Amino acid sequence: MVRFVDVAHMREWVASTGVPSIIRGMSQYMEDDFRRWDEFDKSPRVASHSNVGVIELMPTSDGVQYGFKYVNGHPGNPAAGLQTVTAFGVLADVASGYPIMWSEMTILTALRTATTSAMAARLLARSDSTTMALIGTGTQAEFQSLAFRELVGISSLRIWDTDPAAMEKFERNAAALGLEVYRASSAHDAVTGADIITTCTADKQLATVLTEDMIVDGVHVNAIGGDCPGKTELDAQILHRADIFIEFDEQTRIEGEIQQLDADHPATELWQVLCGDAPGRVRADQITVFDSVGFAIEDFTALRYVDDAVKGTRFCTEVDLIADPADPKDLFSLVSDSTLAVEPVHSAGGASAVIR
Ligand code: NAD
Repeated sequence: MVRFVDVAHMREWVASTGVPSIIRGMSQYMEDDFRRWDEFDKSPRVASHSNVGVIELMPTSDGVQYGFKYVNGHPGNPAAGLQTVTAFGVLADVASGYPIMWSEMTILTALRTATTSAMAARLLARSDSTTMALIGTGTQAEFQSLAFRELVGISSLRIWDTDPAAMEKFERNAAALGLEVYRASSAHDAVTGADIITTCTADKQLATVLTEDMIVDGVHVNAIGGDCPGKTELDAQILHRADIFIEFDEQTRIEGEIQQLDADHPATELWQVLCGDAPGRVRADQITVFDSVGFAIEDFTALRYVDDAVKGTRFCTEVDLIADPADPKDLFSLVSDSTLAVEPVHSAGGASAVIR
């Protein structure tokens, strides 16, 4: 049997545990996994692009467990009442190859992305940071805000979205969460006085959400919305002024903001900063950019964290996903049981079946 966390159970688990507590716990797991970076199989995700979006598979393994996430990115989806990003994932046992856990990952991706962003900011933003500009107040926004309050100490938010309804939605949710919010009149207005700028917009193009004149010395930019070839958020001039930090070089060169730069432009993988192998922020006036695209190890961490949290609790069920006959060589026994047989029924529209 495979443990199964469907949307209803994920919602119950998150509501009962609380987003801040999950972010704190998950950040410990994530730091542990980033510190053992060398133990993981790593490859850029497998992406299938269309003219409206992308569907991706994100696999990795630490030799004991294997995980993958299925995720899409379709910026036009909200106009049709659908999510831009949806996902599910699987954790498997490397020794047997059997899946052990299957989970919804749309909510979980928002939690893991927020955790990764805040973990990076803790290493890269000025330690006296209190104000964050949030450009794009869609799905990821509340999760980002809570993670930055919990892990970085952000107490004040300055928001901007091209869609007024998205800002209204955010303000409603933020009020219930006790977040202090200033609703800006433009991206320029939003970034004024901010210590950290998070860009989480969705647009399938080389967009310029931030221009160079919006960036002042000492700011940290958490750029999460540019995550596909031809889909970026920052003016390249910002990247030339900043020290750039990334997740996994091979993938980010294709998908991140740095796709706009020469292939040999310096960028530091975040795990190196965490392990003390490379410097993070070294000066108060330094401009840092976390060019985040989302990497498989973060999803592996999230699945591992949820599995440890929900196993043996009311927050998961089990599904019979693996055909596993008593005699491993007799798979046929599972389909030759006459009590399971159905009679084909032929109708004008084609064949259907009834259970005998
Ligand atoms: P969403 O569609 O729910 O929200 C995006 C918001 O951006 C919308 O409200 C839209 O109106 C706004 N927007 C678009 N263009 C804008 C602009 N120029 N200025 C201001 N606002 C603008 O999407 P989401 O699920 O919140 O995801 C946001 C982005 O983050 C997407 O591009 C997604 O692919 C990316 N993402 C990255 C990671 C990662 O790990 N780096 C993880 C999840 C999502």
